[in-house]
Amino acid sequence: MNLLITGGAGYIGSVLVEDLIKKGYFCVVIDSLETGHKRAVDPKAIFFHGDYGDISLLKKIFLEFKIDAVIHLAAYTLVSESTVDPGRYLKNNLAKGIMLLDEMVKAGIKKIVFSSSASVYGEPKRIPIDEEDPLVPTSPYGLSKKLFEEILEWYKKIYGLKYVSFRYFNASGASAKYGEDHHPETHLIPNIIERAYKIKKGIRDIEPFHIYGNDYNTHDGTCIRDYIHVKDISKAHILALKNLSKLKYKIFNLGNGSGYSVMEVFKTTERITGVNIPFVIDKRRPGDPAILVASANRVKKELGWKTDIPDLSDIINSAWKWKLNHPNGYNVL
Ligand code: UDP
Repeated sequence: MNLLITGGAGYIGSVLVEDLIKKGYFCVVIDSLETGHKRAVDPKAIFFHGDYGDISLLKKIFLEFKIDAVIHLAAYTLVSESTVDPGRYLKNNLAKGIMLLDEMVKAGIKKIVFSSSASVYGEPKRIPIDEEDPLVPTSPYGLSKKLFEEILEWYKKIYGLKYVSFRYFNASGASAKYGEDHHPETHLIPNIIERAYKIKKGIRDIEPFHIYGNDYNTHDGTCIRDYIHVKDISKAHILALKNLSKLKYKIFNLGNGSGYSVMEVFKTTERITGVNIPFVIDKRRPGDPAILVASANRVKKELGWKTDIPDLSDIINSAWKWKLNHPNGYNVL
């Protein structure tokens, strides 16, 4: 099967392309490298540095490589940035996505797996969150994902597109080769790990880790999230590709089904790294709901998916190992 992976040089894309290639899929990657890294693309994939909304590039790829299905990961992904620059998010995540869908339709490509997000739910009414729960995004980022899911449903009705949309909870961890390297890094686990690494290397003069809010309605006042290993996310995509034509449901939560507070993640990372990390309590970050924990029953039942790495310590440990082996991320100094 020949695949186009948009955003294949990003964090999740890099691990997914590695796994797809191991399974014998032919992979073409488009990535603008705004947040992705050329070195994060498996050398066996065909790589195009470009924009996934570039119609002529899409036409060329679809024609040249006889693409059977698209895995659409490319997006701007920062919730808080989207709350100050909504247009940037809606243009990139929606308008370009529509270009991609239209080119797929013209080329007769009927299959797409889309990376959506738990942020479509906004402040959930109940925990764990079920796929049928109300979608009330609290950020333009979440809105962009919600609207794209609706657009997929219309393309299904009108053009017979077969799609799966995965609502990712908190992707984390790393494979041996590929991990998380964002600039700036906003995510919880790599931010804590970065400080642990510097302290381990004897750098004392570091900015303390900032906990964004300890006055949420949770057991310790810090936000609760559902951390899911990036290899488990990857596995779900491969199952979706195999079963795309015969699925009852199209939309699936991808999470472990268990939540950990920011403070619990912080303490676990201190234990794994063996480092005491200075921290401060900062104000809440805009757009952050108090608790996001998935019900993963649907994906388990319908796709036969289960987590291979459910344990938070194992997830953090894989990210820590990656940091030790790639201290500068993809920047080889
Ligand atoms: N967080 C934090 N300090 C940081 C980064 C994140 O306290 O330096 C908190 C953030 O407010 C949220 C949780 O950690 O409650 C997870 O944030 P992340 O950005 O990793 O993922 P998100 O849930 O926003 O997708």
